[in-house]
Amino acid sequence: MKIGMSHGAGGEVMQNLISEILLKNIKNKKVNDGVGLDDLDDGASIPLGDWEIVISTDGHTIDPLFFPGGDIGKLSIAGTINDIAVMGAKPLAIANAMVIREGFPGEDLETIVQSMDEVCQETGVSIITGDTKVMEQGKLDQMIITTTGIGLVKNGEIKRDSSLNLGDKIILSGSVGDHGMALMSYREGFGYDTDLQSDVAPIWEIVETALNTGGVTSMKDPTRGGLANALNEISNKSGLGLLIEEDKIPLKEPVIAVSEMLGIDPYEVANEGKVIMGVDDNLAEETLKAIKKTKYGSEAQIIGEVTKDKHVILETSVGGKRILEAPIADPVPRVC
Ligand code: MG
Repeated sequence: MKIGMSHGAGGEVMQNLISEILLKNIKNKKVNDGVGLDDLDDGASIPLGDWEIVISTDGHTIDPLFFPGGDIGKLSIAGTINDIAVMGAKPLAIANAMVIREGFPGEDLETIVQSMDEVCQETGVSIITGDTKVMEQGKLDQMIITTTGIGLVKNGEIKRDSSLNLGDKIILSGSVGDHGMALMSYREGFGYDTDLQSDVAPIWEIVETALNTGGVTSMKDPTRGGLANALNEISNKSGLGLLIEEDKIPLKEPVIAVSEMLGIDPYEVANEGKVIMGVDDNLAEETLKAIKKTKYGSEAQIIGEVTKDKHVILETSVGGKRILEAPIADPVPRVC
């Protein structure tokens, strides 16, 4: 077997690789009764008395490094903060490892580091340790940034992607497809003809606001594999179905245009500044109202609810229903 691009594309193919090569060959996969590797959640945890330390790591290989709406620096910090946040933990600190190609422009590196710092300042997160390596020309495509994040949550308050309850409402914090479609259209050369921008942003404010209302049961950030993958993951892991009202899913005009032009499903491409959450039915409206007041949550919607069915069902305004499957792989490669 040889590794292909789809093995890193956040769908079924990648899941198989993780199970067959990683999980099978690693014996020690959790600390005490924390969230471990086998759980395949957005992050893992180490329980320590009244608290749990949440940890998550991400290697960033995005191409190009600078794209409409952001760069690899902003992406690497926001992406890691978001994985900590959707565990219900307050993000605190980042470890940052950079592998840079020989000959890489120093000014670009500085811009990237400044982008990292901006997101950190916005969210009150610190970069407290790191590592810098350089590889020869021709052996690396520009740079790889690996960020590891640490967060804290009170013991017992961690949010899992498997903890939806029957009857919960599903809140989506904003439009989907922006990141994947912005990258794709930029690569195809018509990026500047649209005003399509990546949604890359830290979602901690949205998450913290939602947690304060007390109704959140489960969360996930719909990154690789998009909304389709994230909805299927929380549904499968919770052993419950979802009924999603398609008209409630926010989609920007240029995203629809680009997806039609390229034949790519906007529900299957990555988002980098969004969150989906299950919220107790009684607190869903209140939570939505609170999220709408946050910087990145103004387009949030209740898009559906948790059902006894085992599938994710999309229902159109005219009553047509179809099963929304998880993608085999994200159709846009090197997206984060
Ligand atoms: Mg995630």
